[in-house]
Parts: sequence; C-alpha cells; structure tokens
Amino acid sequence: MGKIVSLANQKGGVGKTTTAINLAASVAVLGKKVLLVDADPQANATSGLGLDINGKGIYECITGEAEPADIIRKCQDVKKLDILPSNINLVGAETELLEIENGQKRLKTLLDPLKNLYDFIFIDCSPSLGLVTLNALVASDSVLIPVQCEYFALEGLGKLLNTIKMTQSKLNPSLEIEGFLLTMYDSRLRLANQVSNEVKKHFGELTFQTIIQRNIRLSEAPSFGKPALLYDASSSGSINYLNLAKEFIKKNRNKYQKITMNPKNKGLGRGLGAIFDMEGTVLPEKSKSRAFEEIEIDRIQPNPKQPRSHFAEEALEELAESIRTLGVIQPITV
Ligand code: ADP
Ligand code: MG
Repeated sequence: MGKIVSLANQKGGVGKTTTAINLAASVAVLGKKVLLVDADPQANATSGLGLDINGKGIYECITGEAEPADIIRKCQDVKKLDILPSNINLVGAETELLEIENGQKRLKTLLDPLKNLYDFIFIDCSPSLGLVTLNALVASDSVLIPVQCEYFALEGLGKLLNTIKMTQSKLNPSLEIEGFLLTMYDSRLRLANQVSNEVKKHFGELTFQTIIQRNIRLSEAPSFGKPALLYDASSSGSINYLNLAKEFIKKNRNKYQKITMNPKNKGLGRGLGAIFDMEGTVLPEKSKSRAFEEIEIDRIQPNPKQPRSHFAEEALEELAESIRTLGVIQPITV
C-alpha cells in the first residue's frame, strides 16, 4: 500500500517543484514505484519532466472528463516513475471545487485507488493554501515542507502549520509531517547557517538531516525536461537529492516495518502473528498492506535467532498453544 506525500509551502520559489521532481526520480531510481502528481496550474513539474503542458491533466480528472489511468504518463528517462500532469485549467478548480459536494475530498477519491499501484505518490502543490492544496493535504498521509535558507524563511510557516492542524482536526486525522527540508543552502552565507540552525531548533527531529545545497545544475535541468540525476549525475544537486531519497526511504522503511502484534498470537512469531486473527484466518486488509510486501533482495538479512535451537519453557508453551489453535508449525533445529 503506497504512501501519499504532499510537498507544500504557500511561499513560491522555495524548492517544492525542484524537490518533487528530484526526490520522486531519486526514489524511483532506488527501486520504488513512484507517481508524481502535479497539482499546480503552472505545471512546472510537468514541463520539468519533459511532458506537454497543453494536454489533459489533473484538472480534467477533477471534473470527471478524464480518468487518471488515461492521463498518467511514463517518465521517458526513469523507468519506475510515472507522472500525472497538470495544465493551466487547474486555476478553475479553485472555484469549481467549491460547488461540488465534498469538494475537499475530490483528489483523495481520485488518488486512493492508485495507492495499490505505487510505493510512493508525491504531490507537487502550488504556492497557495487554496482548495487544491487543501485537497492535496486531505489526500495525503504526510506533508513534506521545503524551507528555503533565506531571510524570511520561517515567516508564513505558522500559517501553513495552522492549515495542517485544521486539516488534521476536521478532514484528515492521520496526516503527519514528513519533515522540513532545508533547500538552496549556501554555506558561504552566514545567514544560511543561521536559518538552518533556527529551523533545527524549532522543528528538531522533524528536520531532514540531508540539506539541499544551492546548485546551478538543479535550475538548469528542468529546461532539458530531466531530473538533475539524468542531466548531471555527479552534480551536488543530484547527489543531495539521492541522499534525501535514501533518508526518506529509510525513515519510511522503519515505520512500515513496525507491525503491531496481537499479544495472544505471540507464539506465531512476528510475521505470521501479524496477519492471523484469533480464528486463524488471514486478515485480508493486513495481508494486502504489508504482510506480503515485495522487498528488494538486499533487504533480506539472515536472522541470527532463527532457526531456533533453544526454547524457554514459556515460549515453548506459547508455540504449542498457537499450533493447537491455529495449526501452524515452525521449524525447530536442535
Ligand atoms: P517552488 O516550486 O517552491 O515555487 P521551485 O522548485 O520552482 O520552487 O524553485 C524556484 C527556483 O529556484 C527555480 O528556478 C529552481 O530552478 C530554483 N532552485 C530550486 N532549488 C534550487 C537549488 N537547490 N539550487 C539552485 N536553484 C534552485
Ligand atoms: Mg512549484
């Protein structure tokens, strides 16, 4: 089951689109299936990945003229990256969404079915806190906030955080903050250091460790319709975004691996206990989401505690009990 992450900050020019393109491409290059949704009428993410900004896009999906499946395009250069493009018509959605019932949930309705097809869906928001951005927040599991290392960096963040809180309390209680990302960092400027220290002080662990430096290649790449990775792989910009992608995947890997066990199923071991209920039937919802997750081979490590050679009395009793009730057997070596 994929995760939807919005890139939002109502300030323009802070690096939302640059992050959307390059994070999405880097996460895809690292083996995840990724969809980038362009939710900005300026369609910079669409053109930045070499797609036509005059074709049908997210707006036509919102109005019901088109289906996402017909609009989604493959990124020419990155195999595991798809794009749901945008166009200028999306400006109209701000007022049209007001008129439809549950207008704040329109994007959620469109994107929810796609969660089964992708590991991550990134939404590049426009520089506003209007109804389309609200739609993105309602559809998302988390929001990533790019913060430019400049003088008024923290200004306006309060308003964004209030919007997030309001969304959490009224429309999407499970919305989380993915993290604050420092962008356009220039170590020669004392100001950049001050801003990054300030952001870290304010938001602590929620600040990504990876910092995106100011790098000319990042601003050149979109005019070639490519992510920086394919325009100049050795540039600091593409390396920064690859590191961000690694940090992002690692952060989410830990979260998604966390399985809460029914204590009564303890004897089954972590994996099985998590997908069986007390009657021993596989829980369809859980098995779909993460119990049978497809993972890269290099993530599989030998478990030093398996196969078990020793059972404490209590653990053995637990195992016996689980076999009695559920009929599942674990291999044991002596
Ligand atoms: P937003 O989507 O928040 O409006 P953009 O990602 O479009 O911001 O960035 C604004 C401008 O700054 C663009 O011209 C972009 O190419 C440039 N830019 C963004 N990040 C960097 C960076 N790290 N180094 C240099 N230029 C950058
Ligand atoms: Mg943008």
